[in-house]
Amino acid sequence: MKTVDLRSDTVTKPTPAMRAAMAAAEVGDDVFGDDPSVNALQARMAALTGMEDALLMPSGTQSNLCALMAHCERGDEYLVGQMAHTYRYEGGGAAVLGSIQPQPLAQDGQGLMGLADIAAAIKPDDPHFARTRLLCLENTWNGHPMPTAYLAEATALARSRGLACHLDGARVFNAAVHAAGPGGDPFAALREITRHFDSVSVCCSKGLGAPVGSVLCGSRALIARARRWRKVVGGGMRQAGVLAAAIDHALDHHVHRLRDDHARAARLADGLRGLPGLAVRSAATNIVFVDVDGGRGGELLAHLAARGILATGLIGLRFVTHLDVDDDGIERTIAAVREFCTRPASTAATAPRAPDSPY
Ligand SMILES: *Cc1c(COP(=O)(O)O)cnc(C)c1O
Repeated sequence: MKTVDLRSDTVTKPTPAMRAAMAAAEVGDDVFGDDPSVNALQARMAALTGMEDALLMPSGTQSNLCALMAHCERGDEYLVGQMAHTYRYEGGGAAVLGSIQPQPLAQDGQGLMGLADIAAAIKPDDPHFARTRLLCLENTWNGHPMPTAYLAEATALARSRGLACHLDGARVFNAAVHAAGPGGDPFAALREITRHFDSVSVCCSKGLGAPVGSVLCGSRALIARARRWRKVVGGGMRQAGVLAAAIDHALDHHVHRLRDDHARAARLADGLRGLPGLAVRSAATNIVFVDVDGGRGGELLAHLAARGILATGLIGLRFVTHLDVDDDGIERTIAAVREFCTRPASTAATAPRAPDSPY
């Protein structure tokens, strides 16, 4: 029985065609700037996001870290969501390694920080305060695409107060495909999102299905600073063209198909909605959260695992669709959850609430 792995869109394996592209890649030493595949990919991603330059990074965490360190100096601060990846799920790297103070702000159910809260958090130029330098947004956040009007308003507010704007766009292609709608051009939609920012970090090892890699995009000057920090934190890679080739292949073949992931997540949410003991909170893209009554989340996970279906969480379970999940996997998941919800409850001890999955 094939495993249906809904833990994260990071679990995708490179397709045979992607592996062939990787095997055929021309390579060189990228620390010397000699890798033609890396150089071509960076130029392509810069053009796609409307930025001057781009830099291939080993991970999204490192990409965000180098971006924060390129924007901010010691004693500066960035405004960021309380539940944002760049604050909560990156080991405090900006503070630990960059001496950059985070100023976390509350987010609503869609991940949006209040504009008044952003304005109030910007500190005056006074030695009592850290220097507020940067607004950091995340799109999608927990699968929720950021409304275009919000992107425009929040970044305009930040700019009017002298702040730069960084987008953690780990899943920005999901946001772009959603914004483009059926028949629309996701690449045009991507530029409509990225044009509001000074820098954007894009994960290629999530929905795009590459095995490794994120790309940081920004101005030439910003990318030059980020390149220094990438070396400092150990992210200078040598024949990285094999990874660039995988990402290039993904940009050719795995962008439009993100629609399928969104449709499957919607189907999963529809199939689970209304089942007894569940509250389904679906986002518009590829992530579905399911709250399980009575502390039975762990029990449901075990029930699913016994049937070859993997998810994460405890009370709030998370299901993420991706390239390696098909319609049959979704129907099997719905059937297995339904079986669990319609049978009598056991007397299992209630499990404690765990934070939502960071993956
Ligand atoms: C996954 C993710 C990252 C970090 O990516 P890694 O490659 O796992 O380090 C950053 N931000 C968001 C929103 C993510 O989902």
